[in-house]
Amino acid sequence: MSTAALSAKAALVRKVGGPFTLEDVDVAPPRDHEVRVKMVATGMCHTDLVARDGFPVPLPIVLGHEGAGVVESVGSGVTTLKAGDHVVLSFNSCAHCPSCDDQQPAYCFNFIPNNFSGVRPADGSSALSQDGAQIGGNFFGQSSFGSYAVAHERNAVKVDPQVPLELLGPLGCGIQTGAGAAVNSVGIKKGQSLAIFGGGAVGLSALMGARAVDAGAVIVIEPNASRGKLALELGATHVINPKETEDVLGRIKELGGGGVTHALDTTGIPAVIAVAVETLLPNGTLGLIGVPPPDAMMPGNLMSMLLRGVGVKCITEGDADPQTFIPRMIGWYKEGKFPFDKLIKKFPFDQINEAAEASEKGDAIKPVLVF
Ligand SMILES: [Zn+2]
Ligand SMILES: [Zn+2]
Repeated sequence: MSTAALSAKAALVRKVGGPFTLEDVDVAPPRDHEVRVKMVATGMCHTDLVARDGFPVPLPIVLGHEGAGVVESVGSGVTTLKAGDHVVLSFNSCAHCPSCDDQQPAYCFNFIPNNFSGVRPADGSSALSQDGAQIGGNFFGQSSFGSYAVAHERNAVKVDPQVPLELLGPLGCGIQTGAGAAVNSVGIKKGQSLAIFGGGAVGLSALMGARAVDAGAVIVIEPNASRGKLALELGATHVINPKETEDVLGRIKELGGGGVTHALDTTGIPAVIAVAVETLLPNGTLGLIGVPPPDAMMPGNLMSMLLRGVGVKCITEGDADPQTFIPRMIGWYKEGKFPFDKLIKKFPFDQINEAAEASEKGDAIKPVLVF
């Protein structure tokens, strides 16, 4: 067990809008139920950029929430992990609320303080400091934009050491969110049909999840031609480019034999959601994953929804329990049914600002920073 602080290279956000600045920070040893992890790679997710650009977190802070690495040391109360274990870091949860008791940690009643407060909720402390001054950490219970990170036993998931850690970080958030939305949240089953609005990292992960459970028709609606092409490679049965197709709704109904059993929106755009809700067959389910404008109201005709018995599910983290869902995705990957590595574009850690720019421009679907 380690008792000394370690020096790490981390990417700090010091002002709203960035940039990320690479600086040395001290990473304290893990407390009772914490683990300190030597980072191998960490994915960049949309939420990192939302937090950089003003979602309320205390500054300066180290963001990053798709970490993958090797456990360096564990706290005295940790029983499930030991030094040397390969882990993927996911979102954190409190372990003692009604949702956590029900194995639904994505809906933890204390999700915000455990993932966005920048501190340990219990006492306002952080594992990160610089010259003795506290630096915001604990972002998604990890702050993995650094060469060492402190996470919690609960959000560090032990993974198969045979699978390259460089690939696995995004399973902790973006890919889990998409695949889980299809498989857990709307519960698509063998032979059922799915329309996915938006072919970014989350939408394409939903596609791969649907394929992994042998869904029938999967239709991806995406204006970017190269993403549409990738969707076909990943097993979409049809891709619709809304820039080239005037009647998207009509086309989906045509392709799905009257409609689809399930639809997922990853765009958060109300006008898109209004179309998505009309694509559903009777008793169909719409899942909403995309982040909407703060003042947006649910669009859709209530009578039309009522007559079809349409269900709407808002989705956080794909309704996943990371401790079971991350190993399940890795199992699919090993069987060749979940080629999520095709979404990844690697960047050296010191090119974090370039990675963010590539993500914003759409040049990288899922940037992964390699240490
Ligand atoms: Zn909880
Ligand atoms: Zn994320």
